[in-house]
Amino acid sequence: MTTDQRFPVARFNSEPTPFYYYDLALLDRTLEEIRNASAYPGYHVHYAMKANANPAVLSRISAAGFGADTVSGGEIEAALRNGFPASGIVFAGVGKTDAEIELGLRAGISCFNVESAAELEVIEQIARRLGVKAPVALRVNPEVDAHTHHYITTGLAENKFGIAMTMLPAMIEKATSSDSLTFRGLHFHIGSQITDQAPFGLLCDRINALQDEYNARGIHFDTINVGGGLGIDYENPDSHPVPDFRSYFDTFHRRLRLRPGQQLHFELGRAVVAQCGSLITRVIYVKDGVARKFAIVDAGMSDLIRPALYEAHHKIENLTGHGPEEKYDVVGPICESSDVFGTDELLPRVERGDLFAIRSAGAYGEVMASRYNLRRLPATVVSQ
Ligand SMILES: *Cc1c(COP(=O)(O)O)cnc(C)c1O
Repeated sequence: MTTDQRFPVARFNSEPTPFYYYDLALLDRTLEEIRNASAYPGYHVHYAMKANANPAVLSRISAAGFGADTVSGGEIEAALRNGFPASGIVFAGVGKTDAEIELGLRAGISCFNVESAAELEVIEQIARRLGVKAPVALRVNPEVDAHTHHYITTGLAENKFGIAMTMLPAMIEKATSSDSLTFRGLHFHIGSQITDQAPFGLLCDRINALQDEYNARGIHFDTINVGGGLGIDYENPDSHPVPDFRSYFDTFHRRLRLRPGQQLHFELGRAVVAQCGSLITRVIYVKDGVARKFAIVDAGMSDLIRPALYEAHHKIENLTGHGPEEKYDVVGPICESSDVFGTDELLPRVERGDLFAIRSAGAYGEVMASRYNLRRLPATVVSQ
């Protein structure tokens, strides 16, 4: 595949940089693949909006029939504005404010994923005051031994997310006995950028055991929500433009014993949008250091913070360079030494004015952009 087939470089030349480029045809292919791979009875995918809330992206995802997983009042509003029906919106997060809860109840969203007893109490009070019933699911820490698999980040240790298994019975009792609450089921989310199916299999085993235990006590769950977390290939975006959704959904189909009529919800974020986005940036200077060469670009950590925040690496391409490959440190203009996109990147010889694509930037990119150093927020260009 040549560069020109993937990127409209001629068009890029007339756009002010840096900007986010979204390949909506790839997004559509990804959505189609998710739809096909998840076509089992009762399976529903809610897109985790925190990964990318660009209106062009959101409207494609809502048009494809997916729901939305939101974590703030702002995301609920953006979901409604961009075509998601209230009946397809779920609301998660440890710190839902009274105003956000009221917004969700008035809009008639389909579920609050509750993370503490204190929150359940407040949702109940607000629902009572509004004269409505709040649909709730309880987010449980699956207590899968962290040593069993290093990808599982929630593990045994107490953290701010979710409800400990030991506190669950009292909260189910509360959720099922209140006139102002409708108990929907259980919610889990074990981590992010998980590229191996094993942790998801372990989650299934844990849920099977939990369901057996609670069913024996006469407690049933209408909905099981297994969260998101499926990872993508950051190093080879062109060999894996669409993540392996078949293996992912088949893991749940094989390992999770759903009860008759039970709904299984998924909340994929990164896997849906990461590969369709690139941050396009222009080289301002090539700086010869003592032993290194720096390609100083006009995008910085304010536009894509993942490398600085998580030591993440995104594949970098020189879209306009043609010479022999040389090694460069690709750095941004921001006054922070962590404003580095890559070190020792092998790139066709770089010249001032070259255009770079920083790949796989569709998830946790634009949404995390800031105006640090009083820079303009990056613009958006979408494929035509
Ligand atoms: C962030 C998050 C997701 C999405 O995670 P991805 O790794 O982007 O798939 C899903 N559910 C919850 C509760 C989250 O916090």
